[in-house]
Parts: sequence; structure tokens; C-alpha cells
Amino acid sequence: MKSIILFIACVVMLMLVGCQNQTRITPTIVSSEGIKTLSEHDILAISQQACIENDNRAIIPPNYHHLNSRLSKIAQSLPQKINNIELNYKVYIDTEPNAWSTANGCIRVNSGLMKLLEDNELQAVLAHEQAHIVLKHGINLFRQAPYIEITDKAHELVIIVKEATSHQYEVEADSYAFDLLVGENIDPIGLLNMLTKMPIHSENQPTSHPSRIKRISNIVDRLNRH
Ligand SMILES: [Zn+2]
Repeated sequence: MKSIILFIACVVMLMLVGCQNQTRITPTIVSSEGIKTLSEHDILAISQQACIENDNRAIIPPNYHHLNSRLSKIAQSLPQKINNIELNYKVYIDTEPNAWSTANGCIRVNSGLMKLLEDNELQAVLAHEQAHIVLKHGINLFRQAPYIEITDKAHELVIIVKEATSHQYEVEADSYAFDLLVGENIDPIGLLNMLTKMPIHSENQPTSHPSRIKRISNIVDRLNRH
């Protein structure tokens, strides 16, 4: 069985374009039996913690910044609450074009992505991230992990995830986002345009490329039937 290692920045946070490598220190292993004892509430709490820690490390522009106004305007065109969870958005000043979400409703978008995409494409990104939350992908990835490694710091927690599962979740999130956009009278072409604009990762991201081809063909298929 082929598997990939996703760090908490990727697992609790489902990213748009895959994960960056991080330095690992000697971990504590939590077995699959141990994982099963984690309730949904526990996983949401871990997600919340991971989100706060990332916010603390990030450069977040002041409220009056034009990127905040742009993001909140785009977010207003989509549901504000899902699964009874209030969504909250922040822009990070970071040139890497990426976005991520956590199970507890954090959605974060890098300034590099906002610069790269048109409003309609950013709507597609937010719809895709909302889909991960609605479909509880972050929670499921925790549950399905054969084991979790936890280091001293929560953000260095490591989860092993099956490659096929993460591909499947990306396609599912796109399909959900497609229906969400159509339901809100937003042109779903933004999903396709957004994906074709995303940079392709290098060899250390071997899973990104086939995953992207699959995602694009799924959206093209949906557009043809639309
Ligand atoms: Zn995703």
C-alpha cells in the first residue's frame, strides 16, 4: 500500500496544492487504537489549536488592508456557516499560492494566491475549502490514519495518509464545490481556471501532478454535463 506522510499543516489543514516538508523531531507514536478513542470534539480541538498556532506564526495584514476587504467580499457570496460551524477567514502575507482549511472552520488564503487569481477563481477556492469542512475530510483523515506521531509541538504532529484517499478527497471537494457554486449562481468555470493556474510542484511532491490531472478531468466532465 502506497502512503504519503502529511504533516498537521496538511492533514488538519487540507491544502489546495499539497504540503511542504518540515523538520521532524523524535515523535511519540499514537496507535490506530489510540486514534479511535479521539472523539470528533477532540479532533476539532486539535484543529483549532493548529489553526491558532499557524495564525501566530503568520503575517496577517491589518483589518483595513485591501486584501481583507477583497477576501471578505468574496466570502460573502458563499455560505457563512456549515455543519453548524461558523467559518472564519484570514489572509496570510505569503507569496506561495496556497489556501487551506481546518475541520473547525478556519479558512486561510495566502496573498500569493489572491494575487494569482481572479475573484471568480477565488470563489472556487473558498468553495473547495468549504467542501473539505462539510464533508469532514480532516476528521476522516485522522480516523483513517494507521498511526499518528505527536512531537512536543502540536504543529509537528504527523499523520500517515493513504495517497489514494487524499486524491479522492480532492476530487470530492471539487465536485461538492461545483454544486455549491452553481447553487449560488456562480459560474463554476472558476474551479477549472483556478486549477490550471496553480503551479505544479516539483519531484518532492510526486502526488501533486496526477492528482491535478484527475481533478481537472473531473471538473471538465462536470462542465460538459452542466
Ligand atoms: Zn483540497
